[in-house]
Amino acid sequence: MELPRIFTIRERNHRIHNPFTPEKFATLGAALRLPAGSTVLDLASGSGEMLCTWAREHGFTGTGVDISTLFTEQARARAVELGVADRVAFVHDDAAGYVSDQPVDLAACVGATWIGGGVPGTVELLTRSLRPGGMMLVGEPYWRRAVPDEETARACLASGSADFLLLPELIEQFGDLGCDVVEMVLADQDSWDRYQAAQWLTMRRWLDANPDDEMAGEIRIELTVEPARYARYQREYLGWGVFALMRR
Ligand code: SAH
Repeated sequence: MELPRIFTIRERNHRIHNPFTPEKFATLGAALRLPAGSTVLDLASGSGEMLCTWAREHGFTGTGVDISTLFTEQARARAVELGVADRVAFVHDDAAGYVSDQPVDLAACVGATWIGGGVPGTVELLTRSLRPGGMMLVGEPYWRRAVPDEETARACLASGSADFLLLPELIEQFGDLGCDVVEMVLADQDSWDRYQAAQWLTMRRWLDANPDDEMAGEIRIELTVEPARYARYQREYLGWGVFALMRR
């Protein structure tokens, strides 16, 4: 059980493994208007930046679950650094099927809906950990504008155009699943750059330090083609946002 190494090579220096900035996470945390002491379950918590900063800013307590050993270690170190290690815990585990022992006030899956087999399954999974009347957070890509063809969709790292919806359709899908969308904070092209462009320098530095690694050839190719691919396709067509949901 481990995240494939390619991700930790690209994203080892990221605190946020999504097209979100610290400011956007701060905006979202305040927008939820939850009281101090609120309990959180964060599935696919990555390096724990959301949980740790919200524990510090809003007095939340909670648990993060992630399959990456490196990211989980980084999350634990971040909790110590921010002085919230007594309020948050990070578990190295598969989040697929993970249900908390006690119902929580806020159940989140921010940028990993494959753990539930898609948005409907992830909403269902989060609901199983949620107290009645609690709030869910789902982070998910959407098409900023319709892709002209399947080649463009694949160049956005989707398997096809059907992988994602347009923003109004994604919002309607949450409604069809029996949820009110009660808040949202969306990525923008600049916050996408903080996620994607930051990987280029990380890859370049890794290549310089690890020229003989078995993955050096793959990373070399990726660094060569990735910036233009991203600028041509993903930056133009792919949106991303975090949606706060409450069951109707
Ligand atoms: N929510 C975090 C991380 C999002 S990136 C943030 O916003 O920064 C996606 C995360 O999903 C990665 O940290 C990866 O390690 C994790 N992941 C992928 N498959 C998983 C699984 N089956 N169970 C738990 N975590 C998983």
